[in-house]
Amino acid sequence: MNRFNVRKVAVLGAGVMGAQIAAHLVNVKVPVVLFDLPAKDGPKNGIVTKAVEGLKKLKPAPLGIPEDAALIQQANYEEHLGLLGECDLIIEAIAERMDWKLDLYTKIASAIAPHAIVASNTSGLSITKLSEVLPEAIKPRFCGIHFFNPPRYMALVELIATPTTEPEILDQLETFVTTALGKSVVRAKDTPNFIANRVGIAGMLATMKEAETYGLTYDVVDDLTGKKLGRASSGTFRTADVVGLDTMAHVIRTLQDNLGPDQANDPFFSSYATPPVLQKLLDAGALGQKTGAGFYKKVGKDILRYDAEKGDYVAGGGKADEIVARILKKPPAERLKLLHDSKNPQAQFLWAILRDSFHYVAVHLADVAESARDIDFAMRWGFGASQGPFELWQQAGWTQVANWVKEDIEAGKALSAAPLPTWVFEGLGGADGGVHRPEGSWSAAHARFVAPSTLPVYERQVFRETVFGAGALEPLKAGTEVFRNDEVRVWTLDGEVLIASITAKLHLISPAVTEGLTKAVDLAEGGYQGLVVWSPDDVFSAGANLEALMPVFMKSGGKGIAPEEKKLQDTMLRIRYAAVPVVAAVRGMALGGGCELAIHCARRVAAMESYMGFVEVGVGLIPGGGGLAYVARRAAEMATAGNANADLFQFIRDGFTSAATAKVGTSAIESRKLGYLLWSDVIVPNKDELLHVASAQVRAMAESGWRPPARAPFPVAGRNAIATIKGQLVNMRDGGFISAHDFDVAALIADVVCGGDVDAGSLATEEYLMALERKHFCGLLDHPKTQERIMGMLQTGKPVRN
Ligand code: NAD
Repeated sequence: MNRFNVRKVAVLGAGVMGAQIAAHLVNVKVPVVLFDLPAKDGPKNGIVTKAVEGLKKLKPAPLGIPEDAALIQQANYEEHLGLLGECDLIIEAIAERMDWKLDLYTKIASAIAPHAIVASNTSGLSITKLSEVLPEAIKPRFCGIHFFNPPRYMALVELIATPTTEPEILDQLETFVTTALGKSVVRAKDTPNFIANRVGIAGMLATMKEAETYGLTYDVVDDLTGKKLGRASSGTFRTADVVGLDTMAHVIRTLQDNLGPDQANDPFFSSYATPPVLQKLLDAGALGQKTGAGFYKKVGKDILRYDAEKGDYVAGGGKADEIVARILKKPPAERLKLLHDSKNPQAQFLWAILRDSFHYVAVHLADVAESARDIDFAMRWGFGASQGPFELWQQAGWTQVANWVKEDIEAGKALSAAPLPTWVFEGLGGADGGVHRPEGSWSAAHARFVAPSTLPVYERQVFRETVFGAGALEPLKAGTEVFRNDEVRVWTLDGEVLIASITAKLHLISPAVTEGLTKAVDLAEGGYQGLVVWSPDDVFSAGANLEALMPVFMKSGGKGIAPEEKKLQDTMLRIRYAAVPVVAAVRGMALGGGCELAIHCARRVAAMESYMGFVEVGVGLIPGGGGLAYVARRAAEMATAGNANADLFQFIRDGFTSAATAKVGTSAIESRKLGYLLWSDVIVPNKDELLHVASAQVRAMAESGWRPPARAPFPVAGRNAIATIKGQLVNMRDGGFISAHDFDVAALIADVVCGGDVDAGSLATEEYLMALERKHFCGLLDHPKTQERIMGMLQTGKPVRN
């Protein structure tokens, strides 16, 4: 495959999707030019400018940091078509109208660079039909690229070829979308709504219909069809509200317009009718979250639900029956049997929607997807399900479930009379078979099992996501284990790079974790190029394990904790001054002690979605694992880096403020702005590539003759700086912005980051600053207000303000 260099991307259409796709491109450092129609009044870029401004306020935030909006180049079709020639990829995301899209393609065709890939983000139009107006030269480079909203956070991107798309183009695009944009690609056929929306929206319609059959209210349905069922926590109706009822109606219309008896003759066609209640809400302009009302309406603190009979909103909050909630916790085979056999209407409803989904995907597999794996992945990545329908079916016992579905179809209980395809019973070989096997997943279109893509980009994913039944090795059982205790596994894949995985809940740092990490450093120094701190799940470490320290604290108070804390600080220094590079592979939360662990590593490789910060003040404490010593050291390094006369205090103030206000970066980019990642660290768009990149960093650092930093004392800002900070804190306290205890904790943070009661410019060591940290940390532990905060957090998980 030729290398596909993407120097710049053009996004056409600065609406909901286009603007957010442009934002995500900026997040991953791909230069982007965003086009829209010229404004009728005022500056011609008016429409785009407004969209770019909107990105700064949108929630969830499409940009890593709002100020990066300035990196989106703004353009309009009247003045700037020439800019298209600089772009290697053009993503069209204008309004969903075939005629408008075709007009635009005709208008821009001559401005497109001859090698550029052109792709449409349409959710429902035929990609093949769209390609038909394109000049012959562009057709081989045209395809569909279907992002999900919000594009920064939704993993799925469906790529759709036309009969004239050059296969290499899709390979190039899949590589780029996977590694550079960090998305998870499913190749979809050019059928209405492609895979995820086809299966997902049919599932939502089925859920709405069965909810009515079983007389369940929206709140109860959402409780049943959310987390408890292993799906997105917003359930069904709230998901519809978040997506927008108009958008949902649009997707439904695509099903209605394209799958009728005179077209595809989909056997489920009758179930694509717009539910009357949805129509009622649409007519009333209640489009969901964006209009403040849909299936739900927030009034003050209460979430009301729509009552279709009353035509008004009534009190919500209904939950699943206890017995059904218990059934949903059982293993799949038992769970499905209990649901199938139960007389409880909620259980019957759940069996009905699961049956409908199994029935639907079995009947449609041959036309909509290459293999069952693509449907399962599409539902995981596009709809937030923990498992796709085929996986669940297989795990629950393929033939048993197939027989139940068959019985229901024959009894007229299913949404369609279409029988299950014969391959369900005869094509898969064996009673306990199923669609996923180690050699691949079932393709109904090809009547064989097909292996996952072998595109080289997937070699970067050491533990690539797989489906149930594919027989993949679990990361924490893979490789050669070198050491393990209760909370850390130390292992290697290649005998060169050692890996330490924290296995404790939320990867909280306890004495067992520090002991395991120290051991890992010893082992790495003894015979490896270096160490990577990596775990296979979505959190680096949520902080120190306060509960683990409780017994010592109960026995001997804050003083008793000091030796434990010293051990933690020693581990941090051990990592920092290890004779081999230690690289933190950060993903998700790296809070408190987790953040301290990351910053003491020689380098950090962080997934785009990394949330780093010191949150200790929330429990009335200060960072005590070397975090404040780090703030002081970094300030000194920055002050001396460019300009020997720079004012140290300026650099300290930022670090102080972040720690004192428990500021957490909302992305790797913001975490870097807060100083918890350095410019020399690596931000990786795709979380599944973290281990690969972190290991590569270890090897490169070792190859380049890596040595630990010199242990040198550095200047601190001293007592005058402390007085200045305290002066500001007094105003905040007296103005009622912070409590007296907030003041005390912040003052102690100031004391450490400024180096204590010394003259400005005095030299300090990390050990000295850590001793100060320890003194204040242990002192706070004995403070009743801090104890109140800690107990509150341990009991309710929420910070106590006192
Ligand atoms: P939108 O209505 O928010 O934005 C559409 C943009 O197109 C606007 O900025 C508008 O100025 C521009 N536009 C309108 N008419 C035009 C014309 N004749 N020529 C050029 N530009 C024109 O739409 P959206 O929700 O961002 O959807 C854009 C595309 O993305 C659609 O194809 C849609 O199906 C698809 N999509 C939407 C979602 C979603 O959830 N909204 C998700 C995936 C894909």
